[in-house]
Amino acid sequence: MKVLRTKAELRDALSEPHRSRTRVGLVPTMGAFHEGHLSLMRAARDDCELVVVSLFVNPTQFAPGEELASYPRDEARDLALAEGEGVDVVWAPGPEEVYPEGFATAVEVDDALTGVLCGDPAHRGPSHFRGVTTVVAKLFNVVRPDVAYFGQKDAQQAVVIRLMAADLDFEVEVEVVPTVRDADGLAMSSRNAYLDDGERERALALSRGLRAAQREAEGGATSATALLAAVERELRTAGVEPEYLEARDAEDLTPVSELSGRPVLLAVAAQVGRARLIDNVVVATNPDPGGTA
Ligand code: AMP
Repeated sequence: MKVLRTKAELRDALSEPHRSRTRVGLVPTMGAFHEGHLSLMRAARDDCELVVVSLFVNPTQFAPGEELASYPRDEARDLALAEGEGVDVVWAPGPEEVYPEGFATAVEVDDALTGVLCGDPAHRGPSHFRGVTTVVAKLFNVVRPDVAYFGQKDAQQAVVIRLMAADLDFEVEVEVVPTVRDADGLAMSSRNAYLDDGERERALALSRGLRAAQREAEGGATSATALLAAVERELRTAGVEPEYLEARDAEDLTPVSELSGRPVLLAVAAQVGRARLIDNVVVATNPDPGGTA
C-alpha cells in the first residue's frame, strides 16, 4: 500500500492506471477508522481495480468552536486498517497541500439542500457543506475516480455530493453505502469515542427512536408527525434534547408532512455529552394510504 502526501505524488501514481482505463474507486475520509469506513473500503475493493482512500481532517468544514483541533486522529492505526482491507493508495496530505497560501475558491450547492438540517444556520450552518463540497470537488479532480463511496450515515452529505457531481459534470458514480451500526444499534462514528458509558446508553435513544418510527411506517402511518412522535418519545425518555428531528424527502430534502409514496428521510441530530451525534433512516411510505395496497 502506498502512502502519499502530495498532489504531485498522487497524480504520478494514478497516471498509468488512468492511461490503462483501470477502474479507480475513491473513499474520502477524515480518519479515525471504524467499521463504517471499512465497509466503504470493502465496497470499493469489491467493485474497483484500484482503491484510493483519502485521509484528511478538512478544516474548512468545521465551524469556529467545533472540535477541529481535538478531532480523533491516529494515522498509524488507520494505515494498518486500510492495508488490512487491501487499499492500494492512502492519500494523507497536510492542510497546506490542500489549501495553499492564497486559496480563495469554494464550491457551493444551493441552500435548499445545504441550509437545512445540519446546514441550518441554527446548527452547523451552510459553511459546513461549502467546506465538504469544496474538498470533495478537489478530491474528484486530483483522483479522477470512476466511483466515489459515501456513507448513508451522513445522508444529507450524500445528497449534496450527488447533486454537486451531476451539476459540475464530474464523471464519477456516487455510491452510497448503508449505515454500519454497533450491535446495540448505535450508528458508528468517530465521535462515539467521546461518549462515556452513561452517555452511550442515552445515545442509543437516537437509533431506538428511528427504529420505532420505521415500525410506525410499516404499520401504515400516514403522517410524518406520527413517525417523528415515535422518535421523540424515545429521546424524551432518555433525556436527549434533539438539535433537530425532521422528516424530509430522501432525494431533494424538501419537508414532508403527508406520506405519499416517496421515500422519506427521518434525520436526527443531538448533542450527547461532548459528542454531536447524527443518525437517520429512510422509510418507504405507502402511495395509497387510503387503499388496500
Ligand atoms: P468521516 O471520516 O466521518 O468524514 O466519514 C467518511 C465516510 O464514512 C463518509 O462518507 C461517511 O458517511 C462514512 N461513514 C461514517 N460513519 C459511517 C457508518 N456508521 N456507516 C457507514 N458509513 C459511514
